[in-house]
Amino acid sequence: MADDNLTERRSFSRGALLVLALAAPMATIALFRANPVIALAPLFVSHMLLLYATLAPNCQWWGPVLRSFATTDQEVWLTIDDGPSSAHTEKMLDLLETFDARATFFLVGRKVESRPHSVTEILARGHAIANHTFTHPSGTFWCRNRRTIATEIDRCAELLRSGPDRPAQFFRAPAGQKNPFLHPILARRGLALVGWTVRGLDTVRRDPAVVAARIARGLSPGAIVLLHEAQRTKRNPDFNLRCLELTLQSATERGYRFIIPTAGQLRTRAAGK
Ligand SMILES: [Zn+2]
Repeated sequence: MADDNLTERRSFSRGALLVLALAAPMATIALFRANPVIALAPLFVSHMLLLYATLAPNCQWWGPVLRSFATTDQEVWLTIDDGPSSAHTEKMLDLLETFDARATFFLVGRKVESRPHSVTEILARGHAIANHTFTHPSGTFWCRNRRTIATEIDRCAELLRSGPDRPAQFFRAPAGQKNPFLHPILARRGLALVGWTVRGLDTVRRDPAVVAARIARGLSPGAIVLLHEAQRTKRNPDFNLRCLELTLQSATERGYRFIIPTAGQLRTRAAGK
């Protein structure tokens, strides 16, 4: 189980947001007869703040998000989302081996169902797996209710548990979206929410060199790096592989090592030390 410090740290901002969500409509009603335009201001401001907390991937207003880990060495945590895939997972494992790099694969449960052997293979080659929901509802995760979010997480967790002897400790939300239900659900399951320090925007950019250069600019000791697999498999089947290779190459040349951080390194950073 992930450490309590990573999952249950209460934040003042969460309570404040919930109070704001209740108080803003009441303020609007109270002010409406005096000045309807001004009366809408509290509602507008509260909606903007709630949207930011929900859609800004690394925003911690709803609860803790791991965005780096504690280290004084030249080491970073590579995370690869959206697998497993027939196009990339095996080849990525080969690339990682070439560079003596470790990574954590944030897997989508529905894809694991059709490639359960990928879980075994990833673990056997020294990497880690983590929960990235069952269906990856990237357009709607932010507005899902408590039960649907719990089902997304639990169905994926069940598939990840069936192969390895250790349950996944980490969760990443599709597109980094959160809502007020997510953190309590994660805390009950001992899962820590993982964000990132730097991402290559490989779901948007089309040139692997641009993706790798963006990551290189954002590297620092303790950085969490986000890449994807299973993108553009028809038009450019090697795209994600090139992004990974160039990222590994440039970081290795600068003396960085790709490691999976220990619970201690993550706990220390989560506690803000
Ligand atoms: Zn994803």
